[in-house]
Amino acid sequence: MRTDDDSWGIAGKVGSTALATAMVRAAENVRSDGLFTDPFAQRFLDAAVTQGWRNPYATEAWHRNDYEDPATAAFRQASTDCAVCRTRFIDDFLRAGTDRQVVLLAAGLDTRAWRLPWTEGNVVYELDQPGVLDFKSETMAAHAIRPSARRCAVPVDLRDDWPAALLAAGFDSTAPAVWVAEGLLPYLPPTGQDVLFERITSLSAPGSRLIVDVYGPEFYEPERLRAMFARMNQTTREEVYSTEELFFSGDRADVAEWLAGHGWTTTAAPTLDVMAGLGRPAPDDMPAGALSDFFVSAHRVAQG
Ligand code: SAM
Repeated sequence: MRTDDDSWGIAGKVGSTALATAMVRAAENVRSDGLFTDPFAQRFLDAAVTQGWRNPYATEAWHRNDYEDPATAAFRQASTDCAVCRTRFIDDFLRAGTDRQVVLLAAGLDTRAWRLPWTEGNVVYELDQPGVLDFKSETMAAHAIRPSARRCAVPVDLRDDWPAALLAAGFDSTAPAVWVAEGLLPYLPPTGQDVLFERITSLSAPGSRLIVDVYGPEFYEPERLRAMFARMNQTTREEVYSTEELFFSGDRADVAEWLAGHGWTTTAAPTLDVMAGLGRPAPDDMPAGALSDFFVSAHRVAQG
């Protein structure tokens, strides 16, 4: 059961979702038609297994997606393709800018600080739970893999006073920044989501940018979440996750509307369009909950 002040390491329920995302990226990395390369993702999986984590995605069935039930296969395909397209779409958003300060909120095992071609002076702030960031730093250090930007780990809970920690780490709120909130919002309670965007806004100088994957009201309905996790657990053939262990349900603000009302110009790209545009269209008979609804990108036009 989630509580307002719970915490976790990499093998905890919430922390291991970073490993699940790494699993998707490791699988993409070995495809000949991959939408990005992430040669580091597999190292996290190997390191976690060495430390006692049992990888529930290491089965033939998961990799070959040859489930008898077509709905399970469709879910596995659509949900992994969605995560892959999300990574690529956000990579492209970052590559299209010249932002010197990059803030990865809930960075998990995102390796953009290593794999994107940053230029001199770029700093990538990574915010996540201390146990998650420690695991990541130790794994990269063990392989002597150096980032291509200055990477600054900021161990925090995003429901706490993380702006103070970010500023103490050297973030300059008078200069523009780009913010990435990828695969984060369902892990925050509805009020926590509002506070997150209030804090981002108060730290964002004009010219700042933001990108986030968002889910509509239907996604957060408890019954639909339960059905989604049941389907997800069919892909691993065991109960790996449940709604109560990961997500906060309930009504929450519309992100694009909220940002538009607080000094940002916004663009909402439907996930289905992004996936089709990247050559990974979702199946027509897609089970509920496999995809986010939109990628919202925003540009800060006013201060305060
Ligand atoms: N953005 C990363 C990526 O795409 O690889 C990680 C996504 S993973 C699905 C979710 C991440 O959110 C985990 O690393 C988890 O630790 C982090 N997270 C969730 N709630 C958080 C909180 N309250 N404070 C800090 N990190 C949080």
